[in-house]
Amino acid sequence: MIEVRSQHSSYEIVFQSIDQVELPSDSVVVTDENVSSIYRDKLTREPKFVMPAGEGSKSLERYQELQEWLLSQGCNRKTTIVAFGGGVVGDLAGFAAATYMRGVDLIQIPTTLLAQVDSSVGGKVGINLPNGKNMIGSFHPPRRVYIDVDFLNTLPQRELHAGMAEVWKYAFAFDENLHASLSSKSIGRQEMIFRCVDIKKSVVQEDEFETGSERARLNAGHTIAHAIEKLSGYGPILHGEAVAIGLVVETALAEHLGICLRGTKDVIQIALESEGLPTTSTYLKDVDGMMAAMRSDKKASAGSLAFSFIEKIGSSRLVKDIDATVVARFLEAI
Ligand code: ADP
Ligand code: ZN
Repeated sequence: MIEVRSQHSSYEIVFQSIDQVELPSDSVVVTDENVSSIYRDKLTREPKFVMPAGEGSKSLERYQELQEWLLSQGCNRKTTIVAFGGGVVGDLAGFAAATYMRGVDLIQIPTTLLAQVDSSVGGKVGINLPNGKNMIGSFHPPRRVYIDVDFLNTLPQRELHAGMAEVWKYAFAFDENLHASLSSKSIGRQEMIFRCVDIKKSVVQEDEFETGSERARLNAGHTIAHAIEKLSGYGPILHGEAVAIGLVVETALAEHLGICLRGTKDVIQIALESEGLPTTSTYLKDVDGMMAAMRSDKKASAGSLAFSFIEKIGSSRLVKDIDATVVARFLEAI
């Protein structure tokens, strides 16, 4: 069990089988079509709101549909919304919980590796606008997170690999020991997830609302990743795959700028490739497109970009004021 302290409350992240989970009596479940059909016998609690799977469900339309459904089910301020699924379900259900009748309780039961190590912890919830990912959202910490690693047994291999990009990110950016354990494959799945969640807990406790630079360190690889996802139209490349590419390219840039220990990029690239992840993309060649996308990054300011650079394995920091023209020249040269 991991306890996360948050401004107004604290919550527990409990590692246990879904069979042992006891939900509050007035809970409603939000899930997607895949999870609902694979696990129809595991979470029998009704009523259930079942949305189509995929990022497209993080829309204003689906959000409104969910809110109207909550009302039609007679949900009130004592209702608990249970988000049962991957990051998409957690973000939409979480944002609905943050706003329905000015906020109701949320329980997260993440079923993808990405959601277990990242999105279910830390309180960020939200939906997309047609032209902006996660543009509408809020901080709404869950009451509890249940992590059952057995859900990963049914997760498609590609999703599993994509989640591993975030796992490696924790190792590269925060924890040399985790890096050693992953490299030697001497760590079980639950222990691996536990250690990632433990890192995330420390980071969000220190900088819950991203007012400092600590939480930004979770964004290692993500400035480039978000630009690639934007250029590719958020479909063909999974978030974790874009993060793998971003970690390699940003670390190459950090080495180029003298911010990162030489040789680190190669270590990162070899690790991610061994995980079956991509480490380059044709979208990188669209330098104008990449630059435009990165300029609209939340951390960017006029004429300069910000990156959470890895300095050496296990250590990272947010570096602001990176001259955009230097980045453009770097991208042209690779
Ligand atoms: P993420 O968690 O990576 O943000 P999604 O919520 O979109 O992404 O989930 C990725 C895909 O995996 C979706 O199609 C979802 O329905 C499916 N999925 C989620 N959990 C499981 C699971 N345990 N087994 C099989 N498929 C799952
Ligand atoms: Zn990410």
